[in-house]
Amino acid sequence: MRILIIEDDRSIATNLYDFLSAGGHAVDAAADGVTGLHLAIAQPFDAIVLDIGLPGMDGMKLCSRLRVEAQVDTPVLMLTARDTLQDKLRGFEQGADDYLVKPFALKEVEARLRALYKRSNGRVTSKLLVAGDLTLDPRMLDVRFAGAAVKLAPKCFRLLEAMIADPGRVFARAELERAVWGDTQETSDTLRSHMHLLRRALLDAGHYDPVQTVHGLGYRLLTRAPT
Ligand code: CA
Repeated sequence: MRILIIEDDRSIATNLYDFLSAGGHAVDAAADGVTGLHLAIAQPFDAIVLDIGLPGMDGMKLCSRLRVEAQVDTPVLMLTARDTLQDKLRGFEQGADDYLVKPFALKEVEARLRALYKRSNGRVTSKLLVAGDLTLDPRMLDVRFAGAAVKLAPKCFRLLEAMIADPGRVFARAELERAVWGDTQETSDTLRSHMHLLRRALLDAGHYDPVQTVHGLGYRLLTRAPT
């Protein structure tokens, strides 16, 4: 894989660089946000390791600019120093695909990057999906709810894409985790966080939440407003 490391901590950056290079990857590195963003836009990478606390431009800002302004969808693994739900939600909202809390094992970084890479190459569907007031266009990455455009982070989009394929059916949590995150082990917190963001975005756009929690089982997508 071609991997970009954006990290200002010299020893972490060097460890990552050496480990991933030794594993046969083509690695590039930047020690500040501005250089990192330029590299991420100018060169094709298969995955990016992005620290949040960076000089120049922090990782959150960088990720958001990469996604929104540059329209680059290279998978991003965010490194966070604090393990709080707020940090994770913010990271996912800015378009990060996965996160890892410091300190981490180098082997785990590589495993996560491989999983992200595999997933980003696995998209196949192309027809417009419809459930009640909700439409999802997998090709244009466009979601509309009751006529209003819904802006979703990549993983929230995948989550909705999985459920809209079979409206009304109850999807088990494990099934959704597999559909969105592949076979890597995610914590239930990750699914919960993304489901929360997805439901909030849909509620804002369509004035009701079409996702129903089925206690003890999972989630279902409703095709009409709950009465
Ligand atoms: Ca840092």
